[in-house]
Amino acid sequence: MAKIASPLHCSFCGRSREEVKILIAGQDGHICENCVEHAREIIEQEINVKQEISSVGGSHKLQVRKPLEIKKFLDEYVIGQDEAKKVLSVAVYNHFKRVNTKSVLSDDVEIEKSNIIMVGETGTGKTLLAKTIARLLNVPFAIVDATVFTEAGYVGEDVESMLTRLLQNCNYDVTAAERGIVYVDELDKIARKGDNPSITRDVSGEGVQQGLLKMLEGTEVLVPPQGGRKHPEQKMIKVDTKNILFICGGAFDGIDKVIARRVNTNAIGFSVNKDEQENQRKNLLQFINAQDLKSFGLIPELLGRLPVITYLNPLDQETLRNILTEPKNSLIRQFKRLFEMEGIQLQIDSEVLDFMVTKALEYKLGARGLRSICESILTDAMFELPGTATRHLHITLAYAEQMFNKSKLSALKVA
Ligand code: ADP
Repeated sequence: MAKIASPLHCSFCGRSREEVKILIAGQDGHICENCVEHAREIIEQEINVKQEISSVGGSHKLQVRKPLEIKKFLDEYVIGQDEAKKVLSVAVYNHFKRVNTKSVLSDDVEIEKSNIIMVGETGTGKTLLAKTIARLLNVPFAIVDATVFTEAGYVGEDVESMLTRLLQNCNYDVTAAERGIVYVDELDKIARKGDNPSITRDVSGEGVQQGLLKMLEGTEVLVPPQGGRKHPEQKMIKVDTKNILFICGGAFDGIDKVIARRVNTNAIGFSVNKDEQENQRKNLLQFINAQDLKSFGLIPELLGRLPVITYLNPLDQETLRNILTEPKNSLIRQFKRLFEMEGIQLQIDSEVLDFMVTKALEYKLGARGLRSICESILTDAMFELPGTATRHLHITLAYAEQMFNKSKLSALKVA
């Protein structure tokens, strides 16, 4: 303190005249060259951060990645589904390219939004794909279920409340939310019943599709901050959906028959080989197009706003086996980590993994069921071992079978 009181010291770092090269005098003090340099760095950093926030919105820094990079990142978390990953990577890349360059381009070429539909059985990774993309891009993300929405004026939630979810997930930072991703699950459940417009009211079907259409088109929407129904006293938040990417998913049960009908009548003929044709027929989803979705009951206007359509393959034995061990945060890795935290090394025999996959397939539990199967086998150990001297846990097939058989899961009837 005594040093700083002397007039010939830097008032910021306290160095004396002899310790510095230059000492600049101010009204009531001095500053040395080191502190000037330091101050300049701070100013530069502050300005950069402010520019980033104003161009991106809130704390969510927009990171645009090349399609190959996006696909590579998805590969770390999602097994298989190459076609869907490719289509998604391109769509997401184009979307953000559009968001970023629109204000710069002066000509009239306006790139349209590439909202996406993913069709595939439940538990094949649709939500996981959307979630992983949002994580990579570091944008706000919300998962909503189309079945909770009803046409305005009926019991249920208004379509606008999906944006409430998005706002809540980024702490009501409107600018960030306006560049977020919304994953609308179970889109198939709001399909119109039958191909013809119904004369009776279709409260949760076409009405909701119309509501959704508005969102996808890109308009300013008044969003109730707490979700649910709008009511007159509520203060609304205005959100522009123009740059929000909507990814919709659904199982569209029975759409394979619709595709088969179309494919047959159109006589595909891209393969002369009979076996090959048979194979392709088995996985008809790969031929899905907007026409099939229209026949399923989505209105053409909505389909027009969801130009990118892709599909996910059903999970076979090999894929399920890989899902257990390969993703960066695979189930087995997660359980190993949990035991590691107790100082226990977990060793699982390869046959145990095969056993888990067989059970998941047998009980038609899919990838979602793998977790409950793991739990059923490991819960006893997770309950008993913490606090004991055990340092190694070896799960053999016999142990796994014993644990599984006494679990509730084994009581499920094989369909
Ligand atoms: P969907 O949205 O298609 O019904 P999810 O994405 O919610 O299915 O998948 C359910 C769970 O199954 C995921 O959380 C993940 O653990 C696992 N899973 C499903 N498909 C895959 C996959 N292809 N790769 C890795 N994990 C998967």
